[in-house]
Amino acid sequence: MNPAWSSALALGLAAVAAGFFWHWAAAAVLLALGVAFHTAQLAAFLRWLRQPSVDTLPAGSGIWEEALAALHHHLKGRNQERARLADALERFRAAGRALPDGVVILDREYRMEWCNPTAERHFGIDARRDLGQPVTNFVRHPDFVSYLAQADFREPVSLHSPRSDAVLQLRLIEFGEERKLLNSRDITAQERLETMRRDFVANVSHELKTPVTVLSGFVETLGDESIEISGAQRKRYLALMGEQARRMQRLIEDLLTLSALESSTAPEDEQAIEVQPFVDKLAEEARALSGNRHKVGVRVAGNCRLAGSAKELHSAFSNLVSNAVRYTPEGGAVTLFWRLEGARGVFGVEDTGIGVEPRHIPRLTERFYRVDQGRSRDTGGTGLGLAIVKHVLTRHQASLEVESEPGKGSVFRAVFPAQRVTPLDPAKAAA
Ligand code: ADP
Repeated sequence: MNPAWSSALALGLAAVAAGFFWHWAAAAVLLALGVAFHTAQLAAFLRWLRQPSVDTLPAGSGIWEEALAALHHHLKGRNQERARLADALERFRAAGRALPDGVVILDREYRMEWCNPTAERHFGIDARRDLGQPVTNFVRHPDFVSYLAQADFREPVSLHSPRSDAVLQLRLIEFGEERKLLNSRDITAQERLETMRRDFVANVSHELKTPVTVLSGFVETLGDESIEISGAQRKRYLALMGEQARRMQRLIEDLLTLSALESSTAPEDEQAIEVQPFVDKLAEEARALSGNRHKVGVRVAGNCRLAGSAKELHSAFSNLVSNAVRYTPEGGAVTLFWRLEGARGVFGVEDTGIGVEPRHIPRLTERFYRVDQGRSRDTGGTGLGLAIVKHVLTRHQASLEVESEPGKGSVFRAVFPAQRVTPLDPAKAAA
């Protein structure tokens, strides 16, 4: 039998027995005591109900003890379940906060219910302040508004963030009961890379167009038997064709150098290069290139060993040297120098040439960036020389510094970190 019934039955039987064998007043007292006992327990329970908590639940006695113990057990179980759910929810939120993508959870009316810090950054919103805001309040871009209107969310939509130069890719994902998740991804770097790739292909095609057009024109002329061509003309045509072929060859060589530099992160053939003979050899090449039209000088202050790839460094330094010769009018001076600045080693080329206006300097190492297209091409430039220099120096943890004054000349310096430089004559280096 239910313990409540058995307790009531026991009280009832005791009262009847007392009344029957002793006095009916005794039965009434017994019943009154029973009622008082239960009223006191109920009062304690009602008091507890005003501020219910597992820890303060009264213990009770008699049948109440059993009932309250069962309630205590139930409440404790529920609290543990609640703590488990809160923990799981917090873990999901922490995962959402750690996501590199922006996440905004929207209700069926497209109002914000929750967002992670990346979304706060992408849309300039605040998870608490903007709670309940319609999504179109913080993503107002017309492309996104029509994306919502179309209600076809299979493809993402890309748009420029109004707050920065960032390009965001947004995608709505439907889940649950008409809930939506707005996913945002910063694709600025990818877009920039794609633009660079497109520009690069366009530039290479443009660079190849002229020589190919010239060559095919001459091939057609030479192959047309109906055209009378004198020996002298033929010689001139062939010379022009050779010039265009060499131009293409230089371009292809520079492109291959760049691609080789890009295909690995560090030089493979590192060695300790003695600076003095290395610079002397470059000076010899400069003299050959100049054909005695310039005064080529060398200043090595403190011979050193430079750790690096001789092939790559030769390619970079000879680009600087060839630029100095090519952009310095006849009679000017080109000086190759090496010196120590603190523990750092500096290779530089100084010229008294045409110089560069300051506004061009930050862009000189961009591929195909030239201050004067005509002059660069006429002197055999590909527009890739300084891009190669920059790449090689970066692979050697070195930096390129440029000082220039239009009409006066330029100094291009490659500055190497101390760990790549070993002075061969420490006394001289200290001086
Ligand atoms: P290019 O093949 O056109 O010389 P580079 O990448 O080597 O390509 O150089 C980029 C541009 O920087 C050149 O077109 C030129 O305008 C400028 N430049 C480079 N070196 C010098 C220099 N020593 N004096 C003046 N201008 C220079």
